[in-house]
Amino acid sequence: MSTEERPASSNFIRTIISEDLESGKRDQVITRFPPEPNGYLHIGHAKSFSLNFGLAEDFNGRCHLRFDDTNPIKEDDEYVEAIKADVSWLGFDWGEHLHFASDYFDQLYLWAVQLIKAGKAYVDSQSADEMRENRGTLTAAGIDSPFRNRSIEDNLALFEQMKNGEFADGSHILRAKIDMSSPNMNLRDPAMYRIMHTDHHRTGDKWCIYPMYDFAHGQGDSIEGVTYSICTLEFEDHRPLYEWFLQELDIFAPQQIEFARLNLSYTVMSKRKLLQLVNDKHVSGWDDPRMPTLVGMRRRGYPAAAIRTFCERIGVGKGASWIDLSVLEECVRDRLNESAFRRQAVLNPVKVTITNYPADKVEELDAPNHPQQPEQGTRKLPFGNELYIDRDDFMEDPPKKFFRLGPGREVRLRNAYIIKCNEVIKDETGEVVELICSADLDTLGKNPADGRKVKGIIHWVAAQQATEVSVRLYDRLFNQENPDKAENYIDAINPESCTETTAMVEPGLIDVAAGETFQFERVGYFSVDSKDSKPGAPVFNRTVTLRDTWAKMK
Ligand code: ATP
Ligand code: MG
Repeated sequence: MSTEERPASSNFIRTIISEDLESGKRDQVITRFPPEPNGYLHIGHAKSFSLNFGLAEDFNGRCHLRFDDTNPIKEDDEYVEAIKADVSWLGFDWGEHLHFASDYFDQLYLWAVQLIKAGKAYVDSQSADEMRENRGTLTAAGIDSPFRNRSIEDNLALFEQMKNGEFADGSHILRAKIDMSSPNMNLRDPAMYRIMHTDHHRTGDKWCIYPMYDFAHGQGDSIEGVTYSICTLEFEDHRPLYEWFLQELDIFAPQQIEFARLNLSYTVMSKRKLLQLVNDKHVSGWDDPRMPTLVGMRRRGYPAAAIRTFCERIGVGKGASWIDLSVLEECVRDRLNESAFRRQAVLNPVKVTITNYPADKVEELDAPNHPQQPEQGTRKLPFGNELYIDRDDFMEDPPKKFFRLGPGREVRLRNAYIIKCNEVIKDETGEVVELICSADLDTLGKNPADGRKVKGIIHWVAAQQATEVSVRLYDRLFNQENPDKAENYIDAINPESCTETTAMVEPGLIDVAAGETFQFERVGYFSVDSKDSKPGAPVFNRTVTLRDTWAKMK
């Protein structure tokens, strides 16, 4: 691909690949996304797999989904299924290339034996503490293990006994014999295999020794013919080891390329922290709509397309990348502005009575589903003499610039008539309980005949036909830009991140499907909750506000 043909959002990895294809260094593009099935995917993972699948698409290659399931203690099929669902939800397809590191356990074992035979690996029987002690530091070289020069025969026998379950966890490990004084700590005789008497979610009790990530990852890439092994920067220091194993085994060598992970403000993304939020019940689960997980975002109503756009927009580089959460929210808003049908809902209702409208009359007004997309059709909106409007749309003593309702003032009801407030009724505490109004019945779909200007438009619902539904007003889970900087990130949780309330809604919001998202006009975007909604009784999650309310506060 020449420079001119390169996709608009080019990045340094695309450039490397283009050049390799042009020079003939590579003739195809095979990438992979290698999650560990020990938690749900978050938006950072979405950056990684959008990049991997996206590159494969751009260069007519393919991307594999490979589960890095080398640590049976933390891994589970529940996570495998959830991860598959998330990747599919964003529209990516691994085709026949669903793989597991555990598929390669037999081969990895043989390769370990091969390295022992070549004198490149040995069984170490130091305690974990001794090993840590002898590893040295960034400034001091390590010390060779007293077991480093065991004979090949002894190593083969011991490794076999390890495999056969003759030793307790932690009593021996298999290490690569590289260099205990290497300035790169990863090359100081790294562990290859450890003993773990734990059943594996796929191989059951077949193994009681498991390969370390570093001994499994590159070989998995090699077996699958991956050409570009793209990972985050913390693996940069592992690259020499990645290459060492491939070279010593003399097998196909993919190219590892590192990029900067995504950091998102007002969010934590470490799986350990996300798991703690779930376990300690700070959130209702991995799919709580405030979580940065893809299951959480889906339940919140974030469209997959918005997340894809976000991943494109933030780009890929080598420098630490901090992205403001508002960038993601803006992608969600943009997308929903296009796709969400408009509906009317009143969250904080006050009653309006139209005195010149017959009490027994109900009109069915036509209202567009999407004002900018007439092809989306209309729905019927009942109108009667009793309505609800939002309390915030009325002020008893409004300033001049308040273009909504006030005593003696006029306002247009969206998709209906212009009304005028003639009287304000209050209860004994002084709270407004009802607004007595009259309607200009000649203003349906047109301006007043006398040319007077009515600037404001407010939303409303017909009191008799409206239904009360549950609404959850979600906000950012953390109120500090970088919760990891707080003494304890738990203290940075936003106490107002979820407010439960109700709304009076138009009939078109009752018979709705889980996951459907609407714009409640002038209020925000709301999605039908997939867990707590019942037929005829939806629960709405606020997906995102209409405008960035945090920008104002800053
Ligand atoms: P942990 O939080 O335990 O370190 P992890 O998030 O790295 O785990 P993995 O399942 O190993 O979890 O991640 C799969 C892939 O996603 C890895 O290649 C990893 O580099 C990438 N990844 C993880 N977090 C991010 C992030 N914030 N931005 C970009 N890529 C990420
Ligand atoms: Mg990881």
